[in-house]
Amino acid sequence: MLHPTGTPDTPGTPTVHQLPSYLQADKLGPWGNYLQQVDRVTPYLGHLARWVETLKRPKRSLIVDVPIHMDDGTIAHFEGYRVQHNTSRGPGKGGVRFHQDVTLSEVMALSAWMSIKNAAVNVPYGGAKGGIRVDPKKLSQGELERLTRRYTSEIGIIIGPTKDIPAPDVNTNEQIMAWMMDTYSMNEGATATGVVTGKPVDLGGSLGRREATGRGVFTVGVEAAHHIGLKIEGARVAVQGFGNVGGIAGKLFAEAGAHVVAVQDHTGSIYREGGLDVPALLAHVKETGGVGGFAGADRLDNDAFWGVDCEILIPAALEGQITGANAGRIKARMVIEGANGPTTTEADDILHDKGVLVLPDVIANAGGVTVSYFEWVQDFSSFFWSEDEINARLVRIMKEAFAGVWQVAQEHKVTVRTATFIVACKRILHAREMRGLYP
Ligand code: GLU
Repeated sequence: MLHPTGTPDTPGTPTVHQLPSYLQADKLGPWGNYLQQVDRVTPYLGHLARWVETLKRPKRSLIVDVPIHMDDGTIAHFEGYRVQHNTSRGPGKGGVRFHQDVTLSEVMALSAWMSIKNAAVNVPYGGAKGGIRVDPKKLSQGELERLTRRYTSEIGIIIGPTKDIPAPDVNTNEQIMAWMMDTYSMNEGATATGVVTGKPVDLGGSLGRREATGRGVFTVGVEAAHHIGLKIEGARVAVQGFGNVGGIAGKLFAEAGAHVVAVQDHTGSIYREGGLDVPALLAHVKETGGVGGFAGADRLDNDAFWGVDCEILIPAALEGQITGANAGRIKARMVIEGANGPTTTEADDILHDKGVLVLPDVIANAGGVTVSYFEWVQDFSSFFWSEDEINARLVRIMKEAFAGVWQVAQEHKVTVRTATFIVACKRILHAREMRGLYP
């Protein structure tokens, strides 16, 4: 067995250190995908194109070593990151991901997509993201807490309620946000609830935050469906990832009369022609950790998932899932990106040529950070809103933002992704220009 550092744990064998991921020769990865998206928007930026280099370099990237005591008495080292891509429009904002494949390139891209997303829905933030290269499923609760606290202490020099506000992302949750808030507060000597969002409701969290990303995915999906004459009632939906985003989006689509026919996650793929029983599936996932083994469905080959007959496909897991290798087989009329960066540029072009409408991450999954913004505002004012009020404001912001982007897409005859980048990059670069360079 290799420790995360690559040190064999058999005494007496020579130590083989694996290089940290950011020193390993690598293709550009998700960051390369983001740069291609920026290149596509540049011709539409007018005089602001002068500032576009700003978007191609993260403002600040912090790499930290996160050493912790393991339960077996050994010491393990993990790679931690926090990248602030842009702060022209406000403090950095974006989640923290715990995953064994996290790299600097990935966190850079995710931070950049946060800048675009926050500007697209016009919340007063820049973009940031963090992560630890770890498989949290292999840690005990105590190890997870020590990892979270040490990481928070290490990035404590750049985060803060007015500087950069982390939140949940893949494999991080309310408990982890509570530990982050506590660690930051202990170091500061005062409770600072506004340093992270996605906290438990009893600790300054917001009602509706947990469901917000899925609700936003659903809201944007319904709006777009109207534009292309697609009826939600009876529509067949395939979802990849059935957690906080895919699970909630699937539930809302099913409640609106759609049939969730296929679901894939890290435990396998399942299918039921007439539609899955979504509440039962959610209960199964809660109990077993995944969709695999769900009694009310047939098993499906993982690769066959992409060719399933459906009208709506919702990738809601990780980036780089829809590629040149599977895009050609997708039958959906509409792809709604619940995940960040699930579609490569090559796949984007294939889908566009096939006439598949892609609702990009930077607008489709912005519901999460929108309610994070509400949470942050509520923490500052120490005045908390009702769930109805939160959902109503969320839906209003998502609808208005999407209507604006849709109009730009029609005007310039570009994809919804490029249209969202046009709207967002103009906002960011206009702020950049007005602030000017210092010194
Ligand atoms: N991790 C979420 C995202 O990718 C939410 C970020 C936040 O609430 O700050 O949008």
